Amino acid sequence: MSDTLYLVIPCYNEQEVLPETARRLTQKLADMMDNNLISPKSRVLFVDDGSKDNTWKMIEELHRELPLFSGLKLSHNQGHQNALIAGLMTAKEYADMVISMDADLQDDVDAIDKFVQEYYAGCDIVYGVRSSRAKDTVFKRSTAIGYYKFLKWMGVEIVENHADYRLMSRRALEALSQYNEVNLFLRGIVPLIGFRTSIVTYERSERFAGESKYPLKKMLAFAIDGITSFSVKPIRLVTTLGAVIFALSVLALLYLLGLKLFGYTVTGWTTLMGSIWALGGIQLLCLGIIGEYVGKLYKEVKHRPRFIVDRLENDPDWQKQN
Ligand code: UDP
Ligand code: MG
Repeated sequence: MSDTLYLVIPCYNEQEVLPETARRLTQKLADMMDNNLISPKSRVLFVDDGSKDNTWKMIEELHRELPLFSGLKLSHNQGHQNALIAGLMTAKEYADMVISMDADLQDDVDAIDKFVQEYYAGCDIVYGVRSSRAKDTVFKRSTAIGYYKFLKWMGVEIVENHADYRLMSRRALEALSQYNEVNLFLRGIVPLIGFRTSIVTYERSERFAGESKYPLKKMLAFAIDGITSFSVKPIRLVTTLGAVIFALSVLALLYLLGLKLFGYTVTGWTTLMGSIWALGGIQLLCLGIIGEYVGKLYKEVKHRPRFIVDRLENDPDWQKQN
């Protein structure tokens, strides 16, 4: 008997792509079931992240027509990462392995076979890694590469060029469920779990329809989250910076005292103004960095739920007839 696969797909205002995504995934899962690669109880679980368009209606419709599709409706928009964890935690109750992917068909559907192969070969976590960034804009490509380098330098362990297209076994998901942080950056947490892992490379295409749900502002917030959730190095840098500036100021003081002793009075208004602005700027920056962490602590201490489920449409016993 083959194992049960759940595909978890977070959707936020995805009415333009859903029909095509559903069509391609039906095909894929049907093929895999026919070849006995996955059990007939496998499902596509769409997570509606509080969409404002017809996304949930369409998911309900899909479920009614073909129970291969399941739907999880969150009570309101909670963001991609929280929608993902909601889907993963729901799916692990029914599945042996779960693959998370985006709704917009950027993640190559045909890579699913390779993921499952790796799973049967004994891997608990399989990372989808994009083979090239040729299709990205120059801006996205260079910022992404720079960001990954920066994360590494900050001591955050991540898989390069891997987003959230990945397979996890139920055992790995059980482990993931023990990470209770509210500031969720899954691609930083998953490598902490351990177990046997491997990589599947795939060609990432362009969004099939609709527009990106990650505007620059959300992307920046996500990037800062990635750093501050896993590294205290920025705070240490602040300390180092403070120490360096203090040392410099002692040297400067000695120099000024020397000048005074030999009778030169300082006329440098420019230097004075310059240092006031520079020091003020550095202080504000450092306060900001520390504030980021305090804010993070505040959120973690409150420990609010990461997601609230409104409804689950799932029919675990339905099986495809040949
Ligand atoms: N998404 C979500 N909640 C949000 C924003 C995005 O569930 O608040 C989903 C979205 O529907 C998609 C995935 O996250 O399936 C990735 O978003 P998108 O493709 O817009 O990001 P991009 O590929 O442009 O970085
Ligand atoms: Mg996308």
